[in-house]
Parts: sequence; C-alpha cells; structure tokens
Amino acid sequence: MSLREVFCQDRAIGILQRGLAAGRPAHAYIFAGPDGVGKYKTAHQWARLLLCANPQIDQGAEGPFADSCGSCESCTLMETGSHPDYAHVYKELLEYTKEGRGKKTPVDLAIDVIREFLIDQVATRPTLSKRKVYVVSEAQKLNANSQNALLKVLEEPPSYCTIILLCTRLEQLLPTIKSRCQIVRFGPVEARRIVDQLTAGGLGSREAVFFARLAQGSLGLACQWARLERDGVGLYGMKKNLVASLADLQLAGVPGIVDRIQEAAKGIAVGWGNLDKATSKSDLTRRAQRTLIQILICALYDVAIHHVAADRPLVNADQAPQIAALAGRLGPEQAIEGVREGYEMLRWLDDNANERLILERLLFRLSRSAIMAAQS
Ligand SMILES: [Zn+2]
Repeated sequence: MSLREVFCQDRAIGILQRGLAAGRPAHAYIFAGPDGVGKYKTAHQWARLLLCANPQIDQGAEGPFADSCGSCESCTLMETGSHPDYAHVYKELLEYTKEGRGKKTPVDLAIDVIREFLIDQVATRPTLSKRKVYVVSEAQKLNANSQNALLKVLEEPPSYCTIILLCTRLEQLLPTIKSRCQIVRFGPVEARRIVDQLTAGGLGSREAVFFARLAQGSLGLACQWARLERDGVGLYGMKKNLVASLADLQLAGVPGIVDRIQEAAKGIAVGWGNLDKATSKSDLTRRAQRTLIQILICALYDVAIHHVAADRPLVNADQAPQIAALAGRLGPEQAIEGVREGYEMLRWLDDNANERLILERLLFRLSRSAIMAAQS
C-alpha cells in the first residue's frame, strides 16, 4: 500500500501534497471526516512518506506528487509496525500505561495515554528518520484534561515533530486545538464505488447496494459489514426482519422488538470481535448497536422519501413493499421526527446512555404515531 493507493481521497491528499511541495508541511493536522473513509490509511501513508529516506516525486499534470519509496529501512520498519519514530496513539493503550494495568477500556481518551505515548515521547529526538510522527485515533474522545495537555505540545511543537489527529466530530475539540492544526476534510466515498468494491469482494449485488447506501460514504464500515456477512453473522437477514417488524409495529410489540435488536447486537459484536481484536468488547457492542440504529434511521428516512420524493432510490429498495406499508401508517413529518430522534440516540449511545431505554423510547413514540395516524 502507498499514498497513491488510498481509495477516493484525492482531494484531501492533494491538499497535503500542495503543502509539502510548497515546503511547509504542517506540524499538526486534524483529519476530519466520518469513520471508515480512509483517514487512518492516509495518515499512516503520510507518516511513511514524511519518515522515508528516499521519497519519490512524480511531476504530474496536477503538480508534484510525493510518495514513500517502499524499500528504505524506514519504509520497511513502517511495514512491520516497528518504526522507532512513529507512534499510533489510541485509547485502548490505557492498559499499557503505568497506572492502567487491568483498567477497563474507558469511553474517552485518557490523559495517561496522551502523556505516556505522546507528550513524554516528543521531547526526544528521532533516532532513524529526520522526523517523528504521531497519529492519534478518535481525537473526538480526548477528554478535557487530555486536550489541555495536548495543547501544550501543539503550542510549541519540536521542529522534527508531526502530530495528526483523526476526528469524526470537530465540535468536540477545543477551538485552541483547532486553531493550531491544519484541518483537512475527508468526504464520504460515493455509493457506487462502494458497491463496486463490495461486489468485487464476492458479496451479492442486493446486499452490496443495501450496505453501500446504509454506510453513507463509509467504505470501511461497508467492508466490515460485508466481511461479517461472509462470516455468516447474517446482518442482512437481521435488517430484513427488522424492517418487516417495523412495517407492522404495534405498541405491545415494542419490548419484543427491542429484545430482538439487543440479541442481534450481541451476535454482531461477537462476529466483529473475530475480525477486530484490538477494539474492546464494550466498543464493539456499541458499534453493533449503532449499526442497528442506523438501519432503523434509514427505514424511517425511506418512509419520508416514499412520501415526498418517490423517484429517489430507497436505502431499502429490496423491501419497497414493507416501506410502503410503514408509509401508510407514518406521515412524512412523523418519519422525519423519527430520523431526528434516531440521530439523537446515536449521540446518547456515544455518551454511554442505557441503550434499551433509548430504543424503547423511540419505538414507543413511533408506534404511537402510527396508531394515531391510522385513527385519523
Ligand atoms: Zn522509503
């Protein structure tokens, strides 16, 4: 893999390249954008280029394009994950801090991780390359203490140091952090490119179209769902059941649906655990719950589309009759209200709220709206 092979992020990489060609690459970047669009891949490849002893520069029509050589000692060590001047900082490292042994992985990125794996390290000069590069994942989870500690480094970074923060929610970062970083935005990947990737990987076209639309531009997430599908987790089957049960939602049926969603989330989290050993069990469960809530949101969004823009493709095009049945019971305003509540639920889930309560709340409200719509 090299910088050139990062998928569909030409615009963001172009911005990085122009800064480098002008002789002023930033000391600190924020790569901002949704999960799964290539922020980490780009950061890793950008680090490999900055550390490479023999960078290759192509003079293309759109300006020079620099990439790592892939064969020097630095590039080889990056490949094996043992470069002394590169560090990937993420919240699960808490377990490896002095005080952190045996601690449960917290929801936020703790100051001990930032202190021991970044701040204490930047003071020493690079040993192999001319630079040191730190990539911080999930920077939106940096708590107030961590952000303040990081700010001190960003205020006066050593000249050899590059820090890249990967962030899905810029509003979570202090203005003083943002003002000291170059913000590079990563956009969603087009759905048709995602479909191509998924079908090339052997997924059926019906499943590929659904996952691509559900992913809303997150290629990484869509690829993980496709892997789960191939591993027999049955996510696509779960979504078909969920949409079908929404179509004839009754108040009395809500607790049963919530039970089934929670069971499904457990099954998905176990399957995900087999693919992703680095992420904690509680985070995987939360990720599975997010997926199921996204499925709910998309079904409600489809209802709104059915009412107001019938020529637009549905996310659940494979279950158009069920969406039409649900649209017979929910008006466009009620569907949009449900979508809004669904997004609010996703935020609560990030804040560690009780997912059973928030799911029940959403479904009770929806079923009440459906009953009132049927009576009026
Ligand atoms: Zn190299």
